[in-house]
Amino acid sequence: MKDEGVCASSVSAVLLDGKSLGLRIEGELAERVTSLKSLGIEPHLAVVLAGNDPASHVYVRNKERACERTGIRSTLIDLPENVSQEELMQVVADLNADDTVHGILVQSPTPAGTNELEITEAIDPTKDVDGFHPMNLGRLVMGQSDGLLPCTPAGVMAMIADAKIDLIGAKAVVIGRSRIVGMPLALLLAQKGIDATVTIAHSRTQDAAKICREADLIVAAIGRPATVMADWIKPGATVIDVGINRVVDESRDSGSRLAGDVDPAAAEIAGYITPVPGGVGPMTIAMLMSNTVRAAEMSLE
Ligand code: NAP
Repeated sequence: MKDEGVCASSVSAVLLDGKSLGLRIEGELAERVTSLKSLGIEPHLAVVLAGNDPASHVYVRNKERACERTGIRSTLIDLPENVSQEELMQVVADLNADDTVHGILVQSPTPAGTNELEITEAIDPTKDVDGFHPMNLGRLVMGQSDGLLPCTPAGVMAMIADAKIDLIGAKAVVIGRSRIVGMPLALLLAQKGIDATVTIAHSRTQDAAKICREADLIVAAIGRPATVMADWIKPGATVIDVGINRVVDESRDSGSRLAGDVDPAAAEIAGYITPVPGGVGPMTIAMLMSNTVRAAEMSLE
């Protein structure tokens, strides 16, 4: 059954509006930030940005803006493309030792020649607001989902919860098995209390269309536009489109636009669907803010 939501007239599915939900969550976080400040704690996110990747600069600017909206202090550590692994590791060690810093995020991808996994593992797990440290991912495997969760999977779960979509006994298909999106999301969907029955599909999966047609929930985290087609979707199913792809669009001045992994025609079949942009993207940032506030609160415990 559909809950109240933003419904576009050209589609039959309810659009899950991540932009407005993300802003609502940030509003609630701003109140927690105020409470922390009254106790003398100023939540503080340090973002390490190494290199010249244009998309990374846009992502980091969006994260800084979210910090401004929520009252979180942010510090940008801007490093050159030729930064060494040793220098990056030293920056992380200094931030780990800095008691005024509650959250550390090293923007991915780090420059060629550096070892991103080693950097992730060097971050203090209590400051790991990306939720990618093996200790935080391991807690998730153990069924403990009250810690610092990876932001995109946590954002997807928050959207599902806000729309009151019941997944007990539902068939869910997660397409993509990355350590930052697909795998942690599959664990969250299968956890006790959510209780979906989860299939993980990937590039070697045979007949993903057939598997998807039986699903009550499809999450596409692939990174290829229009991979999930409208005829893959069971009528009324929930479709979460994590993909962010830049595709050619000559009707635009820029010559391109953002597209998800799901064919837009899926909105005529699905019960709920996330738009791209304005769906999972803003929720990812809201969850980063949430993790930073949580990390600051945990520093008091
Ligand atoms: P990734 O590490 O490249 O993983 C992609 C996954 O998709 C892999 O598991 C791959 O399978 C699978 N795959 C590739 N082609 C496939 C196909 N034809 N059929 C089925 N599975 C296929 O990517 P990621 O980091 O998880 O990100 C996925 C997408 O989400 C990207 O577009 C990324 O930009 C976007 N993203 C968005 C947000 C957000 O905030 N909205 C956050 C993070 C990522 P194999 O494992 O077999 O290679």
